[in-house]
Amino acid sequence: MSLSLFCRASLPTQLQSEVLATGGRKRGLERVKNLIKRNGIPSVITSPLESLQSGNWVKLICGASFEDVVDIRNLSLVYTLAGVDCIDCAAEASVVSAVNEGIKAARGIVPIRRPWVMISVNDDEDLHFRKAEFDPNDCPLDCSRPCENICPAHAILNLGAASGGNAGVVAERCYGCGRCLPVCPYDKIKAITYVRDITATAELLKRDDVDAIEIHTSGRQDASFRDLWNGLGDSIDNVRLVAVSFPDLRDSTISAMNAMYTAMKANLRCFNLWQLDGRPMSGDIGRGATREAISFASYLAAARDRPKGFLQLAGGTNAHTVEGLKKRRLFQTKTIFDESNDGSVHLHSVSSSDALISGVAFGGYARKIVGRVLSSLQSEDGRAVIENYPDHLLKALMESLALADTLILLDSRFGLIQVFLRENIMATGQLFSKTTQALFYNYKQLPIQRMLDFDFLCGRETPSVAGIINPGSEGFQKLFFGQEEIAIPVHSTIEAACAAHPTADVFINFASFRSAAASSLSALKQPTIRVVAIIAEGVPESDTKQLIGYAKANNKVVIGPATVGGIQAGAFKIGDTAGTIDNIIHCKLYRPGSVGFVSKSGGMSNELYSTIARVSDGIYEGIAIGGDVFPGSTLSDHVLRFNNIPQVKMIVVLGEIGGRDEYSLVEALKQGKITKPVVAWVSGTCARLFKSEVQFGHAGAKSGGEMESAQAKNEALREAGAVVPTSYEAFESAIKETFEKLVEGGTIPPVKEVTPPQIPEDLNTAIKSGKVRAPTHIISTISDDRGEEPTYAGIPMSSIVEQGLGAGDVISLLWFKRSLPRYCTRFIEICIVLCADHGPCVSGAHNTIVTARAGKDLVSSLVSGLLTIGPRFGGAIDDAARYFKDAYDKGLTPYEFVESMKKKGIRVPGIGHRIKSADNRDKRVELLQKFARSNFPSVKYMEYAVEVETYTLSKANNLVLNVDGAIGSLFLDLLAGSGMFTKQEIDEIVGIGYLNGLFVLARSIGLIGHTFDQKRLKQPLYRHPWEDVLYTK
Ligand code: SF4
Ligand code: SF4
Repeated sequence: MSLSLFCRASLPTQLQSEVLATGGRKRGLERVKNLIKRNGIPSVITSPLESLQSGNWVKLICGASFEDVVDIRNLSLVYTLAGVDCIDCAAEASVVSAVNEGIKAARGIVPIRRPWVMISVNDDEDLHFRKAEFDPNDCPLDCSRPCENICPAHAILNLGAASGGNAGVVAERCYGCGRCLPVCPYDKIKAITYVRDITATAELLKRDDVDAIEIHTSGRQDASFRDLWNGLGDSIDNVRLVAVSFPDLRDSTISAMNAMYTAMKANLRCFNLWQLDGRPMSGDIGRGATREAISFASYLAAARDRPKGFLQLAGGTNAHTVEGLKKRRLFQTKTIFDESNDGSVHLHSVSSSDALISGVAFGGYARKIVGRVLSSLQSEDGRAVIENYPDHLLKALMESLALADTLILLDSRFGLIQVFLRENIMATGQLFSKTTQALFYNYKQLPIQRMLDFDFLCGRETPSVAGIINPGSEGFQKLFFGQEEIAIPVHSTIEAACAAHPTADVFINFASFRSAAASSLSALKQPTIRVVAIIAEGVPESDTKQLIGYAKANNKVVIGPATVGGIQAGAFKIGDTAGTIDNIIHCKLYRPGSVGFVSKSGGMSNELYSTIARVSDGIYEGIAIGGDVFPGSTLSDHVLRFNNIPQVKMIVVLGEIGGRDEYSLVEALKQGKITKPVVAWVSGTCARLFKSEVQFGHAGAKSGGEMESAQAKNEALREAGAVVPTSYEAFESAIKETFEKLVEGGTIPPVKEVTPPQIPEDLNTAIKSGKVRAPTHIISTISDDRGEEPTYAGIPMSSIVEQGLGAGDVISLLWFKRSLPRYCTRFIEICIVLCADHGPCVSGAHNTIVTARAGKDLVSSLVSGLLTIGPRFGGAIDDAARYFKDAYDKGLTPYEFVESMKKKGIRVPGIGHRIKSADNRDKRVELLQKFARSNFPSVKYMEYAVEVETYTLSKANNLVLNVDGAIGSLFLDLLAGSGMFTKQEIDEIVGIGYLNGLFVLARSIGLIGHTFDQKRLKQPLYRHPWEDVLYTK
């Protein structure tokens, strides 16, 4: 394409002058075209008709009311390159011209086939044909202006004084979505509806560059549809496709379609299409917006009596639409799949040889994803033609390709992306922009958060980190983007991350020096990655050389190794570049200046950013190439790049002793390749004070001979024309003088100062500085893991081990929050030993065994056993303690206690056993009693329990004190007799249910044993035998 191809007549004057003014970029565009030709980019994709027939059809909806010709031209250019089949626009001559200009411009870049141009009209009032309107002078001054924020088209201009009388709705940009109407708290906004003029439409249809018409109708007004159709008369003969866009009319849909088709049939001599308008103008809202269009399509695809015509979705369509069609088995298919109630699937063969659903039209969503790029283009450079900004064109193209490619399967078009990637660096010198996104390798919270904070400071709309690669893990990482918390996707491989984020073209590698080379090479091999920054120091030189070779051969850029990265002021920064937010604000890096800066040292970069901000309008871009002997990109690479960036007006270089990189800069200066003023200094002049060779901080910073000395390099740079001061101290004034000369000469206009927003302070930082206090959400009193070693009830772990304390002591610390005497902790341990297991037949063990044999894991098997613990199995210790304590404390005789329980209908807990009796005592009870009698200072509760047992045995021989009763009563003695618990604490311990905890803990040991036992024995699934079940009615 060449700029002369523009039909300037219909572009606004502002744009026309820009087209003329940017003629100098023509050469760059020619190179883009040549490169594309050389690479053999496929220019032939299916014709629009073939797309309709095969289900590949993609239509861009510019908007029936959207009339911003600059955006429409750029949108049409981008989506033509993306291969759409049709571009649908307002039925307005200037808009049709803008669409065709965009198409021509695209076809000038790549000889791609021309999409059809469709105009949209209406037969009556319709949501797509309206504009919002209000009088800004009527708005209360204190209104918070929610209308401005909600408008997806940025059609409502700043209502403040700065708008200079242009306040209110910009009619050309308003496409009638209606979102501003309900948000106005003062009800000031009105919707103005209109109907396109039939005669003007008929005239437009006669143009050679209009291929199709779409009639928007409610489907309910047969008369108005016929009026419009008849009014268009013969002009319809000029088009290749007639589309009818209508909403889901439920039961009357088919009859309405048949009525409209009957009206058209007589003079319909081209193809026709039904546009199924699901949820109008909502595709940009979110994933769910597409559901209605898919349901509508699903219904019509199965309808047998519908009239002839292709079916195409619209209204709420977005990147999830094709996925939805695939789920309903409607994507690119000629067969209907019906699912019956019983789950079986039936196929219907369809008589037509065309796909059931011809394709999808994208409106709000398509405009939004490319609009992001277009608006950043405007904000950076005012209104512009996108092909003059290859970086923006590339980004817009990648967005549009990703959407169009949901339907069109043309992998080869990624070749086009690669061409732009390569050419972009060479042609413009720009590595980054305000829309650049990176993939971050190896999760490091601080540098990523610093990047996001910088984004916020610069007013970026999207985070500069698109995804994180953390080998082996997937999911999301929560980080802050301004005040908002966002979830950044984490991928386990570089390939997966690049596939998920095709617009992220920078790879920030925080791998260690051991794996940095392999991961960087892998990133360089991804077609979407064009810049790789390697942070690690110590990458073997042979590996770096291999990376350099690969990057050069593929026109990619490596920054580093051993680098902090780089920064484009106000746009994008790598990792920790420029340090803290305070430093970034101090150095004014939140907005672009005019100075391109390159150095070897990351540390010295911060110093120079500050110096440059002090004596000039600040940095445009700063790069630290890293201090290795073989940097991925050199000082001169970046100086040459800066020379190609129009916004860079002067270049500052900080070299250092060692190596010969500065000499390639000298050569470039001598050959006149660098036309902008260069102020340079090579540090390390003090090396001559040392008698032997000195290694400075960086691996490459040592003088290998006179040529590599700082003095020789400074002299050579001076001779070649760079401004080189006599000392580092004079560097600042040399930069200042050079800058002031450029200002005086008018080369550098005054920079537009902006006030950066305040970065919200992290809660932890604010708490540390004493600025805020925050309530906690959890209280813990038993352990603490914040010190050098964990503590249990304040006792360090090492002390517990050194003192030879055991499980009973740990229980006393963590459960009772105190160290109990040895006899107490020993008693606890005996309880655990005695209760650990009771054979395979008890409820808990049985459940565990059955679960383990069902193939379940350890935790499931254990838990299924534990779940049986309760009032009937092992859970009576607390109740026993509670009732014995209550009776004893009230002074009840055993007779009174037992009889009162009987009256209440409660069995005495801790009394009675299925097998044990007065003649066959439970050995465990005897052991516990024996230990207590020898060690406890008092066993009054136990003796009381024994007296109760004596009374109950008089009633039945098996009403013995069982192990629950023994532990319950003895624990009361432990608590009361140790003198370490108050009465209130004892009541609390019994009330909370501490003592059953002993049984749970002990029995877990046995249940785990049973699980392992079954697994070891490889026991099959358990099935209870029939013979063991009484089957009865
Ligand atoms: S919100 Fe919608 S209707 Fe309102 S001005 Fe913006 S585009 Fe127009
Ligand atoms: S919300 Fe209503 S009152 Fe407020 S600025 Fe917008 S139109 Fe005016």
